[in-house]
Amino acid sequence: MLLAGCWIAFTQTQTPPAKLAINKVKDDLYMIEGDGGNVAVYVTSEGVILVDDKYERNHDDIVAQVKSVTNVPVKYVLSTHYHQDHSGGNAKFLPTAEIISTANARASIVNQSPASPSYLPARVTFTDETAVFLGGKEARAKYFGRGHTNGDAIIYFPALRTIHTGDLMAGATPLIDYPGGGSVVEWSKTLDAAMKLDFDTVIPGHGAVTDRAGLQKYRDNVDKLRARAQGLVRAGKSQDEVGQAMMAEFGWKAESLQMRWSLPGLMTELK
Ligand SMILES: [Zn+2]
Repeated sequence: MLLAGCWIAFTQTQTPPAKLAINKVKDDLYMIEGDGGNVAVYVTSEGVILVDDKYERNHDDIVAQVKSVTNVPVKYVLSTHYHQDHSGGNAKFLPTAEIISTANARASIVNQSPASPSYLPARVTFTDETAVFLGGKEARAKYFGRGHTNGDAIIYFPALRTIHTGDLMAGATPLIDYPGGGSVVEWSKTLDAAMKLDFDTVIPGHGAVTDRAGLQKYRDNVDKLRARAQGLVRAGKSQDEVGQAMMAEFGWKAESLQMRWSLPGLMTELK
């Protein structure tokens, strides 16, 4: 979720990115943590399927972490959404791997302003669902509806009963990216639909691996935030007052992306 601020800080100071770490989630499934969003690594006999590729600056370390568990190359990157801490590595993976995202996630990168030549979209898109079959294994990508953005994919590994949620679950409190088409009203419905998948393990966009109960708790907190903000907006409270309540009750920080991106959108969406 640390997007623009983190990116600018890096490009201005040239501080080297934090070293990444790879941890086993289940058989043939690993998670690379550190710096940007969580990367899932699904190892098959014919190649690796990644979920997300962090920032561009993380590319070499991601490749090194993958090499520490397998000799097969990365063949596919299933991209959960357009944010640079999840899709920033696309440009460096595109020459050797196929990148797949929702059509909306692609559009958000194509229409970025100002355009950044090193921040590239997927070449293959889907609107509802797609799947990659490699080495006898399957990774499915599905769009369940709006939430964090208007193009969040949930990645499902059926044989492992595991999902990667992208930022539909990330950190302690939701970031509704209204400029990117997000919706707090739709978010909990989107997660309700995703909960119908048969899974027991959840890799969130940021934070530690969890389970169904962890995702349910996160979903319930999104809905609680929606109900609280809606009550305040409909009682005629100002944007400042709603922001104060979000900071006091839901852990939003002053000057955060929540305050910049989510708060003005809440005022409009929850009227
Ligand atoms: Zn995000």
